[in-house]
Amino acid sequence: MEGEEMSQLRKVRRKILLFPLPLQGHVIPMFNLANILHSKGFSIILIHTRYNSPDPTHFPHLTFHFLEDGLPQNSRLTSNDLTTVLSAIQSNCVQPLQDCLSQILSAAATDQEPVACLISDPMYSFAGSVAQSFNLPRMVLRTGGMSAFVLYDSLPMLRQNGYFPLQVAKFDEPVPELPPLKVKDLPPEVQHGILATTVKETKNSQGVICNTLEELEDYAIATVQQSIPYPIFPIGPMHKYSQTSAASILQPDHTSLSWLNTQPPKTVLYVSFGSIAVISETEFLEMAWGLANSRQPFLWVVRPGLSKDSELSEMLPVGYSQIVGERGKIVKWAPQLEVLSHPAVGGFWTHCGWNSTVESICEGVPMLCLPFFADQAINARHICDNWKIGLRLEKKTRENIESAITKLMADGDSAEMRIRITAFKEKAKLCLQKDGSSYESLERLTNYLTSL
Ligand code: UDP
Repeated sequence: MEGEEMSQLRKVRRKILLFPLPLQGHVIPMFNLANILHSKGFSIILIHTRYNSPDPTHFPHLTFHFLEDGLPQNSRLTSNDLTTVLSAIQSNCVQPLQDCLSQILSAAATDQEPVACLISDPMYSFAGSVAQSFNLPRMVLRTGGMSAFVLYDSLPMLRQNGYFPLQVAKFDEPVPELPPLKVKDLPPEVQHGILATTVKETKNSQGVICNTLEELEDYAIATVQQSIPYPIFPIGPMHKYSQTSAASILQPDHTSLSWLNTQPPKTVLYVSFGSIAVISETEFLEMAWGLANSRQPFLWVVRPGLSKDSELSEMLPVGYSQIVGERGKIVKWAPQLEVLSHPAVGGFWTHCGWNSTVESICEGVPMLCLPFFADQAINARHICDNWKIGLRLEKKTRENIESAITKLMADGDSAEMRIRITAFKEKAKLCLQKDGSSYESLERLTNYLTSL
């Protein structure tokens, strides 16, 4: 489009509708996108389930529409009930989304501010068809990595090649079709339905926005682009445009930061497994002893719901806090962005959720990887074997944990990893500056949204 024509179009303010999946790792990037697009002059309407909504009063510049989802409020979501919650949302929210779009579109018809499009999470199976019934253009926000998407898109081919059902005996064998993945990184068949939905909803959309950067996933982005007729916009790292801890569903404990202030530079291991992973009591105790025996300072997020049945922070062995003393701090939820950027933090023991992965890369903090489910094994494989910026925790015994922590935090063993992740940190900074890859991509996205 010609420059003059585009600037005419830009004079008309447009509304963008955003529809995040109500999981912490999906809500945060969608709210980041809301802030980014708002700063570009769009009016933003957030369509959110009542379930797991951040507090709208933290976002006075956004308009909210809530969907009645029929789910119990304030229930703790864990990976154990993920499928139930997702399918309840998929079946309960179709009509509420239809009603909501109908209301927004009729209001927009009279207020001179056209609705450009709906940007939905591609895990919603119904957002595409509902938007289509209103002739409303729809894009998706891919909150995970593009390397994981390449795998999801390849599942029919991998099934044909005989990888499924997965065989434990073959877990350590490579998957030559998708290096550097191993058989154990592939998702089990029970997850294939939801992954196929994600692929279909993405491919049927009119454009893909993703929280990644060319400098990290150029090959995966180019591969996905070959199978999608509409543009892909890698605009990450999205949390770096503005910090929105306000989109946190749990309250971050800011004493984490005052405690970090008392620790020497690069000595603290930050430990967090994100918002929905679950561990057993035995695993918790092995972690506790591994951390204590490593003699390394640690900040450990023990989230309510980290164990299915018990409040884990009450399960610590008698005398544990005396043994650990000031060297260890346990919190229910941390201000993770501030923690990772704190000079005292030297390593991150992570479940390798995509947001945590990107956030750690942006601060140059090498990772100890313990993936649990979904895309985490794929992310961990790329962290350890492709980008080589982290170590894999192979066995969850206290001895193994202790030696892995020592290896990650000691200068000698992790020196090269630190050099590599510092280089990525620099690239992640540069890509957001004028002429950088994500900066350019956001410019393209803004023009695209204006032309829809
Ligand atoms: N997070 C946080 N405090 C914590 C743990 C996590 O603010 O104590 C944030 C973290 O910064 C990230 C998100 O929660 O943005 C978790 O997303 P991720 O994709 O890493 O994992 P998920 O929760 O989806 O498994």
